[in-house]
Amino acid sequence: MTSLLQQWVTEQAERRPDATAVVMHDARLTYGQLEAASNQLARMLKAAGCERGDRVCLALPKSPVAIVSMLGILKADCIYIPIDPSSPVPRVAKIVQSGEPRVILAGPRTASLLDGLLSDERLGKSASVAWMDTERLPGERFNPAFSLGDVQRASTSPVNYRNSPGDPAHILFTSGSTGTPKGVVISHANVIHFVNWARRYFGLGPADRMSSHPPLHFDLSTFDVFGTFAAGAQLHLVPPDLSLLPNALAEFIRASELTQWFSVPSLLSYMAKFDVVEFNDFPTLRRLLWCGEVFPTPALRYWMARLPNVTFTNLYGPTEATIASSYYTVPRCPEDDRAAIPIGTPCEGEELLVLDEALRRVSPGEVGELYIRGVGLSPGYWRDPEKTQAAFLHNPFSSDPADRIYRTGDLAKIGDDGLVYFLGRADSQIKSRGYRIELGEIETALNAMSCLQECAVVAIPTHGFEGTMICCAYVPRPAVSVTPAELRRELAKVLPAAMLPSRWMAFERLPRNANGKFDRRQLQEAFANHETVIARTT
Ligand code: AMP
Repeated sequence: MTSLLQQWVTEQAERRPDATAVVMHDARLTYGQLEAASNQLARMLKAAGCERGDRVCLALPKSPVAIVSMLGILKADCIYIPIDPSSPVPRVAKIVQSGEPRVILAGPRTASLLDGLLSDERLGKSASVAWMDTERLPGERFNPAFSLGDVQRASTSPVNYRNSPGDPAHILFTSGSTGTPKGVVISHANVIHFVNWARRYFGLGPADRMSSHPPLHFDLSTFDVFGTFAAGAQLHLVPPDLSLLPNALAEFIRASELTQWFSVPSLLSYMAKFDVVEFNDFPTLRRLLWCGEVFPTPALRYWMARLPNVTFTNLYGPTEATIASSYYTVPRCPEDDRAAIPIGTPCEGEELLVLDEALRRVSPGEVGELYIRGVGLSPGYWRDPEKTQAAFLHNPFSSDPADRIYRTGDLAKIGDDGLVYFLGRADSQIKSRGYRIELGEIETALNAMSCLQECAVVAIPTHGFEGTMICCAYVPRPAVSVTPAELRRELAKVLPAAMLPSRWMAFERLPRNANGKFDRRQLQEAFANHETVIARTT
């Protein structure tokens, strides 16, 4: 029985070394090659001084090399931190500072990111760089501890590892409401529990050809990668440049003969909007799974009507509870666009609790806050006991002090059918294009701009790809004139594209409620009523 994530690959490599494991464009890695290459990298990382529990940043775009790297890092007893290569340097720097990696793995497509990181004194000194490409380093900018050529010359024999299942496998950084991304620590055991359940429930096997659409810093990708390896199946990496092109994606599913597609719903809605799916399209596809946000019923109906032979499953769960905690396989195409699709029932080993403010169970039909208990719960936030304590509480129904529940911040109810229904958020976390975003992180970045007196960021629902539109209401400092375009440009230097507001409104002062707080509801209405931008005074 597998107890560490990398062992799935080793098992497949022993039994079926020539079976295809990873595919991207014309590149293809067999299980044997994946095993050998990850052994080589593990060896080099150890030689570079990596020890059990050290962090290694994965600053590589999705590619076969990135997958080899994930495994090599685990085999070196280390923890990988996947970095969003498209994120601006200051945000990545916060993650790297917090993670304190021993090594940063980078390549040509992340060279300028790396340049920016290394110019920061604190980072430049502590971490060494490994250059994961055979192409020569541009100039003499970095002095890597080793490069891909060295890795390829290393011995392919297995390395001994000492990790145990409770050790962290990776840290996934998500948006933090106070302006600093928070690192969710995920153990080997967390992922293995989910994958083992999913393998049984979905009947995954060696004949499967799985999509890998979400980027590697999203927790959904963990299921793509390790679900595939657990099943001895093929992982088909969706090239990032296709990932937002509806027609190209449909063609990718056809050409790769995928049996499973897994992504955030906003992408599926986008494909539905462009009507890129034919009736009985994708003849090999057996399962379509989504997670991360509500899949609007009209778009779900579009997909189900076109693909009557495919099984559609809604997976629900936050990163803090590892990939997904509950599931609902939609039995038939809903007849009504307004039909609510439940988040269903807990996956094996998980429990969903709908509680009131005093942590008492609410009656069926009543709205409460959703808590999760079970095998997927992260040990907590990286080096942040305060946030960990605030979100991971003692289970009030248990006398075991180690029994914890995670406060999701989601509102939910248990329906008459006994299934759980997601009803929205209790706070200002949103999803936009599938990205988890704390509006507070955007506000913190805006508040750091000297041209603004005050600002509030709110979200309004849309019917488009974004799902939710981020809107910024701002008051310039007296005698300062600043345009939305200028603000956006400045903000783009510190936040990734998905976090940039798409609507802006200037105010003389922001509306406040009786408590003196910004009246966010009034602001939402103001934005909802204004199609275009966007200079306004009160
Ligand atoms: P993340 O950590 O990025 O996976 O985001 C977790 C949050 O996404 C949850 O707390 C929910 O608010 C939302 N979410 C995840 N899955 C679903 C789903 N199937 N339906 C509705 N919302 C979801």
